[in-house]
Amino acid sequence: MSPLAENIAKVKEAIVRAAREAGRDPAEVTLVAATKVQTSDTIRAAIAAGVTVCGENRVQELTGHLDDYAYDGARVHFIGHLQTNKVKYVVGRVDLIESVDSSRLLEAVDRQAEKLGIVQDILLEVNIGREESKGGCMPEDIPALARLALQAEHVRLRGLMCIPPVAEGPGGNRPFFQETHQLFVDIRNKIEDNKSDINCLSMGMSGDYEDAVREGATLVRVGTALFGPRPPLHRPE
Ligand SMILES: *Cc1c(COP(=O)(O)O)cnc(C)c1O
Repeated sequence: MSPLAENIAKVKEAIVRAAREAGRDPAEVTLVAATKVQTSDTIRAAIAAGVTVCGENRVQELTGHLDDYAYDGARVHFIGHLQTNKVKYVVGRVDLIESVDSSRLLEAVDRQAEKLGIVQDILLEVNIGREESKGGCMPEDIPALARLALQAEHVRLRGLMCIPPVAEGPGGNRPFFQETHQLFVDIRNKIEDNKSDINCLSMGMSGDYEDAVREGATLVRVGTALFGPRPPLHRPE
């Protein structure tokens, strides 16, 4: 087995273990391979080794890999910061946009989806650590943004995503995961009629995905633990 295939198998096993520990059905949790800076060939190898969802966070890398058919056989999520002027390169080309964090972006996605005659699945990104430097909508603004998303005819709200602060020690992010899970539950309860659509909670990365699974994640976005360390050639997120 290649090191990549081994890592994928290891992370999948750890997800199953964490889910069982928490009394959850492991089938509820999907590994999203965070493929930033990886080549199309590496992405193909990951898919051949069992990755079913790729998460991309740069528009330019996304379009390059799409043009290469690198994601064939897998679904694609957009997980990075999305500028409204780049929406046209993403809407209709990915299965889920995980990072909608403002009414302006929501409206731009809705308009582009309308133009294409489609309904785009989205998550709302929560800035659960209230960090100035980070994208994401403040937790208290999530209910209003969710209501807007439900009114928009060409988007379908599927749930929430969060990127918590850099963890301080093991388990450091569990409180943030708990809070995000609670917000997710609140939104589901408030929005009775669309409840069945809202079943995605994206949280956890290489350092903390097991804790995220213990706290209810249905999508974990893992890069380094699959592909190894990235060269420091990109801006910090
Ligand atoms: C890069 C990235 C990840 C994965 O991070 P790792 O620490 O390498 O696992 C997850 N989510 C987002 C939004 C990312 O940009």
